[in-house]
Amino acid sequence: MWASTQTGSEAAGDGPAEDHNGDVVVLGAGIAALVAAYELELLGHRVMVLEGSERIGGRVYTHRFGTADNAPHVELGAMRIPPGHELTMRYVEKLGLKSALRPFRTILSDENNYLTTGSGYVRVKNASGPLLADLRREVPTASYGSVTLLFGAWMAAVVRAMAPAELRDNLASDLTTLLRLADRVDLTPYVHGARSDRIDLGAVFREHPELRMGCGPRLYSFLDDLLLETGTGLMYLSGGMSQIAERLADRIRGPILLGREVISLDAGCDQVSLGIRHRRHRTVRQHPAVLCTLPFSVLRQLALTGFDDDKREVIGSVDYGGATKIALHCREAFWERDGTLGGASATGGRTRQTYYPPHEGDPAQGAVLLGSYAIAEDADLLGQFPEDARHAAVIDELAPLYPQLKEPGTVLGAASIAWAGHRWSNGCTSRRWRWGKDATGRDEEMRRAARPQGRLFFAGEHCSATPAWINGAIESALGAVTAIDTALRSSR
Ligand SMILES: Cc1cc2nc3c(=O)[nH]c(=O)nc-3n(C[C@H](O)[C@H](O)[C@H](O)COP(=O)(O)OP(=O)(O)OC[C@H]3O[C@@H](n4cnc5c(N)ncnc54)[C@H](O)[C@@H]3O)c2cc1C
Repeated sequence: MWASTQTGSEAAGDGPAEDHNGDVVVLGAGIAALVAAYELELLGHRVMVLEGSERIGGRVYTHRFGTADNAPHVELGAMRIPPGHELTMRYVEKLGLKSALRPFRTILSDENNYLTTGSGYVRVKNASGPLLADLRREVPTASYGSVTLLFGAWMAAVVRAMAPAELRDNLASDLTTLLRLADRVDLTPYVHGARSDRIDLGAVFREHPELRMGCGPRLYSFLDDLLLETGTGLMYLSGGMSQIAERLADRIRGPILLGREVISLDAGCDQVSLGIRHRRHRTVRQHPAVLCTLPFSVLRQLALTGFDDDKREVIGSVDYGGATKIALHCREAFWERDGTLGGASATGGRTRQTYYPPHEGDPAQGAVLLGSYAIAEDADLLGQFPEDARHAAVIDELAPLYPQLKEPGTVLGAASIAWAGHRWSNGCTSRRWRWGKDATGRDEEMRRAARPQGRLFFAGEHCSATPAWINGAIESALGAVTAIDTALRSSR
């Protein structure tokens, strides 16, 4: 048994723990790795975790503006837990974090959030008229009833707010078919709001799945994310999502060694040969079992031997989307003065989405505006700039809406990650919509991604049925734990 968990700078040194050959070496210290390490130890295995960067958590990344306990923070990676993500919830509970769960206020959820329309920025509460006018400009609408048009107008609004550019470009064609199908359904039960000018899109698609057939293949595959992310029942963790990683690490007895970059993997039948770079040193060691949770976007750049053709093909071909998040640390939450108390605006342009995260802690420490959250091709527009330039670009773009951002002393600092170019993930998440409608095809991709090579096992969101979510990372970890436990027991 190793003496203690070593994270942080303590672990970055050459600790004696590395001299031990554990039953299982886990590569990466994101959620998949930490869950797997924790569960493997519960099954009696000795575990060592090797992480290339200087922090744990991977794509769960709570950034703090300052070192004080109550310093404002922002999620530069995962920020919400959707309803139905039972595995994520199970670990939140297991780790004693249930009392930190709070309802997450999503995009366009606040009446005072803004959205861009053909008439300029409008508040959600005033948006129906301008959205209907936009719809009439975009597609033929003369033959449809008013509720069908309301459905089309809000459907167009959420696609424009959230979807990648390729879906927005195809919107007119999707809407033309969707309106035709929607007009056959009585949608009046889904109309809501003080002025009866909103429509519950989640309920419409849940109770009328036939409408999904009106979406082209791209929109069809993205629809679940779209409805999930704009729907109700989402939660966040007060204090930051990184607590999930931190609490898992606290419970792992084996060492978690940071600054250990995997540079080569040779998958043999009885052992795995692992090349690691630590500072200026390179080592190659053999281990009886290794679990690799590195994103395939990183793995395919390493020296890999002993992999069969099919495995090489899937590692090489899983597509990764981009995402860029840019947060501004502001002297105060000036947006609250004009009534915006949460949620997010669909600001469009290069910023795409602007979130107003709940500010916890001492108001004297300021508040955070998540100025820009963009995905896919949109993420590259700001992501390609050096940090200072992309921060300045967000301020410029939001200034017509929030002139305060240009006043000296308003913005105290900024932080951002362009995940597409992030050294340790080379992308935001694996892209499921590439796989289209076919559930069988998706299962097959997942099986191929997770399939071991001798004693080298695989986990990570890309090896799951819920890729792109923490839930998928956990699901894949639990699958890998079962496979590793079986393999190690059968060889004893
Ligand atoms: C911007 C963004 C928003 C998201 N929003 C949400 C959300 O709201 N809700 C949600 O549930 N999910 C969300 N996700 C997805 C979620 O964060 C991921 O699915 C999940 O965290 C992936 O975990 P993982 O363990 O599979 O991979 P990772 O977290 O990427 O872990 C892999 C680890 O391997 C390490 N590593 C990489 N290369 C090497 C190397 N060569 N040597 C050693 N170590 C290496 C990395 O540093 C990392 O720590 C979001 C992701 C992003 C990027």
